[in-house]
Amino acid sequence: MRVKVGISVFRREFFIIKKFDLAIIGAGPVGLFTANFAHLHGLKTIIFDSLATVGGQPELLYPFKKILDIPVFNTITGTELIKRLKNNILNKSTIKLNHRVNKIEKLDDGFHIDNEFLTKTIIIATGIGSFKPKKFPLKMNQEIEKKVHYYINDPNKYANQTVGVFGGGDSALDWAVELANRSQVKIIHRRKEFRGLESSVNKLRKLKNVEILTPYLPKKISLSDNQLTVELKKTGSSEISYQKFDQIIVAYGFRADNRFVRNWGVNLKGTHITVGPEMNTNVPGIYAIGDAINYEGRVPLIGLGFGEAQIAINAIMRKLFPEKALTIHSTSI
Ligand SMILES: Cc1cc2nc3c(=O)[nH]c(=O)nc-3n(C[C@H](O)[C@H](O)[C@H](O)COP(=O)(O)OP(=O)(O)OC[C@H]3O[C@@H](n4cnc5c(N)ncnc54)[C@H](O)[C@@H]3O)c2cc1C
Repeated sequence: MRVKVGISVFRREFFIIKKFDLAIIGAGPVGLFTANFAHLHGLKTIIFDSLATVGGQPELLYPFKKILDIPVFNTITGTELIKRLKNNILNKSTIKLNHRVNKIEKLDDGFHIDNEFLTKTIIIATGIGSFKPKKFPLKMNQEIEKKVHYYINDPNKYANQTVGVFGGGDSALDWAVELANRSQVKIIHRRKEFRGLESSVNKLRKLKNVEILTPYLPKKISLSDNQLTVELKKTGSSEISYQKFDQIIVAYGFRADNRFVRNWGVNLKGTHITVGPEMNTNVPGIYAIGDAINYEGRVPLIGLGFGEAQIAINAIMRKLFPEKALTIHSTSI
């Protein structure tokens, strides 16, 4: 493997290209579990996510929904599951957020990721793709943007504030219900009817600290005295309403992009990566698991992705340490 220590002529500073046994692309539930399992086996691991937060679909698409089929937990919310998976790897794996992996270069004895990271093996856990939130369609300066959010890491940060939730799907309704425990909430949707669950709408209608504003479209946003004012236009009429908020949550959904996987040299069937029995792709040293892959009979479930992670890590251990007797059971590690 090439040695990557040197002095940057332009930035006049030392740089050391970091070397890992394993790079995991995607910090959804499956990638996070993989990082912990890799650590148990003593692999030096880095995990990437294109977003500023870990968690993939449970964190972004259904943070407050109850998941009933994760082993051991009778019920756990998406966000609680991710919090636990993340806590398991803190200070054990390198977590690289806001980094969408684009380029994988094959070397003689490993891979070079985005010209910056060297790794002996890779596990692709990119799920349905790299997420990007659908943006609030208004002109905003930086100060306004600081108060406009696309997901909620900690609902308590919004306590005792007036929060505007824009959107009509399940995420918008779930966030509104959750925030209503501690904030004044106004939920704004462009249609009269919500797309999300009727039971959530009914719950919101009963709450005194929740105002439902439909059918309204946001037209302009401004900031003064630390408060946002949004001009709302009633659809199909000329009526204008001005609403004030401390913070805004935009729940217009996310776009998932997995086109870049095509440049990594792995075989795909449709949009999914094809794998062999060890979760191996056609490129030796690159494995794939979770919703990024498909095979006959696969179902997109978190528990199954956890199992695939165990198969892939055991295969990687056999590949990297062929001389060692593999310890399969964690009770013996
Ligand atoms: C509404 C809903 C309800 C669900 N309920 C359940 C349930 O009850 N039980 C259950 O088991 N499953 C459920 N699922 C399915 C479950 O969420 C998925 O199977 C699971 O999230 C797959 O995990 P993953 O880690 O493979 O992918 P994802 O969760 O999709 O995560 C992939 C991560 O990879 C990142 N990424 C992608 N490309 C790149 C790149 N190039 N560089 C860096 N990062 C990248 C993304 O940003 C994302 O964070 C549900 C799904 C939905 C939508």
